Amino acid sequence: MSENCIFCKIVSGQVKSQNVHEDDDCVAFKDLNPQAPTHLLVVPKKHIPSLAAAVSGDEALLGRLQGAIRAIAKSQKLDSYRVVTNIGRMAGQSVDHLHYHVLGGRRLGWPPG
Ligand code: 5GP
Ligand code: ZN
Repeated sequence: MSENCIFCKIVSGQVKSQNVHEDDDCVAFKDLNPQAPTHLLVVPKKHIPSLAAAVSGDEALLGRLQGAIRAIAKSQKLDSYRVVTNIGRMAGQSVDHLHYHVLGGRRLGWPPG
C-alpha cells in the first residue's frame, strides 16, 4: 500500500470501483473513462509503480497477472482484445501503480496514438 495511490485505495476498498474479478494477486475493474465498449484495468494488489519498476522477485506475480488477464478476457467473452501497459508520462501513464488496460468490443486501430 502506497499512501495517496488511487489504485492502492481501490485495492483496499477505500475508493469504490466496479470490480469484475478479484483474486489473491489482483483486482480487475472498469475504467472510469472507457476508451472501448470493454475497458478494464487489471491491477496487482502489490504497489509496483510501473512495469519498469518491477524487480526479479516480481516475475512469478507478473506471470500470474498474465494468466488472470487471459481468464478475465474469457469471462468477458472477448475474443479480440488488446492488453496495454503505459510506462512513463510520454507513453501516457497517469497512475503510478502498475496496471494493464484490457480493451475490446470494437475494432482497434494500429499503430496506437
Ligand atoms: P494510465 O493513463 O496510467 O495508463 O491509465 C490510468 C487509467 O486509470 C485511466 O484510463 C483512467 O481513466 C483510470 N482511472 C484513473 N482514476 C480512476 C479511478 O479512480 N477509478 C477507475 N475505475 N479508473 C480510474
Ligand atoms: Zn498503489
